[in-house]
Amino acid sequence: MDSVTEKLYECFGHRKFKSELQERAVRAIARGVHDVFVSMPTGSGKSLCFQLPAMLQDNKVAIVFSPLLALIKDQMDHLTKFKIVAESINSKMTTKDRERVLNDLRSMKPNTRFLYVTPEQAATSTFKSLLEHLVKYKKVSYIVVDEAHCVSEWGHDFRPDYLKLGELREKYKSVPWVALTATASVEVANDILTNLRLLQPVAKYKTPSFRKNLYYDIVYQNCIQDEIGHLMEFLKKSLSGDENAKSKDKNAVIVYCRTRDQTEELANMLTKRGLKSLAYNGGMKSADRISVQEQWSSGECACICATVSFGMGVDKASVRAVAHWGLAQNVAAYYQESGRAGRDGKPAFCRIYYCHSERNAVDFLLKTEMGRAKSEDQKKRCKNNYKSFEIMVKYCETVKCRHKTFAEFFGEEPPKCVGRCDVCADERAVRRALDQHQRRAMS
Ligand code: ADP
Ligand code: MG
Ligand code: ZN
Repeated sequence: MDSVTEKLYECFGHRKFKSELQERAVRAIARGVHDVFVSMPTGSGKSLCFQLPAMLQDNKVAIVFSPLLALIKDQMDHLTKFKIVAESINSKMTTKDRERVLNDLRSMKPNTRFLYVTPEQAATSTFKSLLEHLVKYKKVSYIVVDEAHCVSEWGHDFRPDYLKLGELREKYKSVPWVALTATASVEVANDILTNLRLLQPVAKYKTPSFRKNLYYDIVYQNCIQDEIGHLMEFLKKSLSGDENAKSKDKNAVIVYCRTRDQTEELANMLTKRGLKSLAYNGGMKSADRISVQEQWSSGECACICATVSFGMGVDKASVRAVAHWGLAQNVAAYYQESGRAGRDGKPAFCRIYYCHSERNAVDFLLKTEMGRAKSEDQKKRCKNNYKSFEIMVKYCETVKCRHKTFAEFFGEEPPKCVGRCDVCADERAVRRALDQHQRRAMS
């Protein structure tokens, strides 16, 4: 055992790293030579990547920028549980409390190991002079930007105040920076590096997007006779083979729809034809939503037809298929939504039932939104949304390995798909289907 693994146990009670990637990120950050960018999915233990290295530096404090007071509270509670002193400075505190924190940080030997602040707080003069002081006396171990996708206009929760953090990077060149996010697209990653002005070369630690247990394909709705029947066969086939599983581990499937009406129509039609299905959408009363989610999670009802509002916090491992009825909004969303399949590592299927009129409907909506945009910011965001949508359409209308498309989108080397998508399994068949689809869509 070296000092890093020792500290891992001593401070956080873990015997092992959660993944090889987590370990490599920790060691790179602990070396402190480069700025580090970490992109790993939610729940993979990104916090530890900076918390452990920070604990290796005695008498120093890590400054952590985090977007929400609720997130800050969670992290502080977590650290406090391990008897690590974590503090915050924010507008909700009493003056007395704030003074206490500031006094400790300005002392010769601060007890505080982590200081959590929002980017808005970072812009205040109190914080700026505190940081100046801490850096001057070499008391800062790291400056950390958590949920770093917030600096990106490609990110869904863009926050202008995050952009200003780049000025701090410029000002304090001696302190290493760490940026962490679960969002993995190339655009977002590039925005993070540029907007935060991270010092090149940045060391990057990123979970590869390729999941080899997921089979991806596309079925063109206008090329099949009975769309509902086709969908039902697909779902039934995916669900089979769990006769001996405990109810909670029973196979399940999700059909994502664009509209609330579609969720209800599809659930009804599937149920009528013999596959019991429930609808889930944002228009339902919250009690009903909870009940549907529970029936699905407990294995009572295997099939759910939902809008994309279904998914946050869904941690069922035995999802055997995710179908998209029509198409998805963009590749990032599609990767995330379809990625709810096969979390247990066993084979699972991800399919888009592509539909030309759905494509046109989304196209129209996005263009309308763009026409209504007033500020420059809004316009830019709409334009980005439209560009993302076009990539999604291209995904559906190009004969190219599906996993390779993802890898390119996430800026990675193409993975060895070997038949884990329709294109690699039978390229000619996909080409034929696409041709037929396009001919019929034209006529
Ligand atoms: P993320 O920020 O990537 O979403 P978190 O940092 O919140 O993830 O960590 C998710 C969970 O993983 C936490 O409960 C954390 O305690 C746990 N965790 C982190 N590292 C390890 C490890 N090496 N061994 C076991 N659990 C870990
Ligand atoms: Mg996190
Ligand atoms: Zn492939």
